Amino acid sequence: MDWDVVVVGAGVAGLAAARAAAEAGARTCVIDRMGPGGVLMNLPELHDMTGNPNGMDYASALLDQAMEAGAELAIAEVTALTPGFAIATDDEAHAAKAVVLAVGLGNGRLGLANEDAFDGQGLSHCAACDGPLYGGARVVVAGHDRWAVQEALDLAATVEHVTLVTQGAEPHDSAALLGTLPNAAIWPGRITALAGAAGLESVSVDGTVLPARAIFVQSGRAAPLGFVADPAAPGLFLAGDCVPGAAETVLAAAAAGARAGGAAAAFALGKPAG
Ligand SMILES: Cc1cc2nc3c(=O)[nH]c(=O)nc-3n(C[C@H](O)[C@H](O)[C@H](O)COP(=O)(O)OP(=O)(O)OC[C@H]3O[C@@H](n4cnc5c(N)ncnc54)[C@H](O)[C@@H]3O)c2cc1C
Repeated sequence: MDWDVVVVGAGVAGLAAARAAAEAGARTCVIDRMGPGGVLMNLPELHDMTGNPNGMDYASALLDQAMEAGAELAIAEVTALTPGFAIATDDEAHAAKAVVLAVGLGNGRLGLANEDAFDGQGLSHCAACDGPLYGGARVVVAGHDRWAVQEALDLAATVEHVTLVTQGAEPHDSAALLGTLPNAAIWPGRITALAGAAGLESVSVDGTVLPARAIFVQSGRAAPLGFVADPAAPGLFLAGDCVPGAAETVLAAAAAGARAGGAAAAFALGKPAG
């Protein structure tokens, strides 16, 4: 399929980009391997936004607006992007004059050899999705940033005990709230091992074994840009969490997406950027 603009990733940044590009008159396709919404689909309550909207409702509104503007949605994983642009996917191939990469940060990683073996067996990347499975159990959250702290705070409402392991980093200021809870702790060490015969049973932090039925991994997230042949190609724009140093909030991603979509449309249509 031939397009003016292809947007890779249909999270908040990608959907905002698709809407802006389509509104600017570009024939636009937004491609996502999972379906629309990205991280929003894991967030029943969005902090830092007036009214704390539900993430899924917000994603649905963003999708509607992009579709109403004329953008099309394809569900596929983009496997290669070469300048020009040729876009290979695990489904059909696409071509575009300009591309917006809005691929987010991907799931967190601990960097342990056996972590994949615990995926779905106690290792999770979403407290809202899997936290209810561990009511009354001891759990760990790996990470130090604001959203890792928020995951720990949310889990503390239902689990027996939650430990935030910061992987050696300074925790976000909001971690002070965790210190006020009787069933929460902050540990500034690094996770060195996961163990368990039938699902996760313990997490080792610098050699100390903590009993844990679940670990929620928010640390070690990285932009999945390995499929991009030339990140500096003219006509290629980045938006949202995949941009180094991004604010990593919904509002920042939406604004960056809208800007990138407009710029991509201008490039594709040969107009000055608005
Ligand atoms: C646990 C957690 C809680 C948070 N809570 C809040 C909050 O309360 N308030 C707030 O403002 N912010 C919050 N944030 C931050 C906010 O969710 C993000 O900043 C924002 O959603 C990022 O949007 P994005 O579009 O850049 O990326 P994403 O939402 O990650 O979307 C990227 C999309 O790209 C797709 N993709 C990746 N690679 C490919 C490929 N090769 N081919 C096709 N598709 C691909 C993915 O499937 C995904 O759908 C939170 C983040 C986390 C992790």
